[in-house]
Amino acid sequence: MHNVTIIGSGPAGLTAALYTARANLKPLVIEGLDAGGQLMLTTGVENFPGFPDGIMGPELMAAMRSQAERFGAEIRRGNVTNVDLAQRPFVITTDEGLVRTRALIIATGASSKLLGLPNERELIGHGISTCATCDGFFFRGKPIAVVGGGDSALEEATFLTRFASHVTVIHRRETLRASKIMQDKAFANPKIAFEWDSEIVEIRDGGKGSVQSIELQNLRTGVRRELHVDGVFVAIGHTPNTSLFKHQLEMHDNDYLITYEGSKTSLAGVFACGDVQDHVYRQAITAAGSGCMAAIDAERYLEHLGH
Ligand code: NAP
Repeated sequence: MHNVTIIGSGPAGLTAALYTARANLKPLVIEGLDAGGQLMLTTGVENFPGFPDGIMGPELMAAMRSQAERFGAEIRRGNVTNVDLAQRPFVITTDEGLVRTRALIIATGASSKLLGLPNERELIGHGISTCATCDGFFFRGKPIAVVGGGDSALEEATFLTRFASHVTVIHRRETLRASKIMQDKAFANPKIAFEWDSEIVEIRDGGKGSVQSIELQNLRTGVRRELHVDGVFVAIGHTPNTSLFKHQLEMHDNDYLITYEGSKTSLAGVFACGDVQDHVYRQAITAAGSGCMAAIDAERYLEHLGH
């Protein structure tokens, strides 16, 4: 039996772990398949306060982890396959067995969206990627494409110019969603070109099992053209990891969890923090802040229960 269990080990989950550990609640963190969360897939993080020279994403996560562990948080490997919130204590099924908990903090984050093209999934790892820092190295001297017009797309495109011979950013509109500073950086980079008002309608592997080219369609003119690329990096946003909580907790239309008065979900004793409940800000620092809020809310809930 645990007082508080945290599902997820990104900035939200680990901050919740730090605070609940310091409140002597001996939290259990189930880290999930993508331990450390999305910052494990980034390079330099320049906007996390306290690091004037920036810090590498994985290094920041390792520091958060050891800080939570120092105060007694137990961080367990494993993935949650089912959550039963109808019983009290709540029952969490992991691939390692059952966990019972009085309070639950959900910090399961969000995952990269894909384009939905027929052979896209099977070509992941063979030219299709959602992680420039993981896979950029494989495209040394090769032309690649990045899909999307947000901060992620431009950050990936800029990073990928370290390896690729040329980067084409494919965006479905003619104006970018990304912040001005990211736009300026990308526009100033001679290795980056933009394909506006366009989408990928086909990914071709030429029977070789890896990306050879893509077919682009201009959405205004309907004109199609083939672009030779060895890699396609998809950076078109994320979907929240909420399938475990369907029909158990209230969600917005876009499947993000609804929170009330800070981190409270629609069910007493269940709290949510980080990207799983934030479709607006989605920053490491806001995730960490909301993890702190969830910890304080869980602590008050348990105090009220008499634990
Ligand atoms: P985003 O801001 O939601 O942008 C997604 C982009 O993908 C948009 O340009 C969107 O087009 C496009 N898109 C969505 N679905 C598509 C589809 N099916 N086909 C083609 N294009 C599609 O997502 P993000 O770039 O991942 O950023 C998420 C959040 O993280 C933002 O708040 C961002 O500021 C933050 N972030 C910050 C940093 C940083 O500060 N260094 C780095 C990365 C991310 P439309 O524009 O037409 O909708």
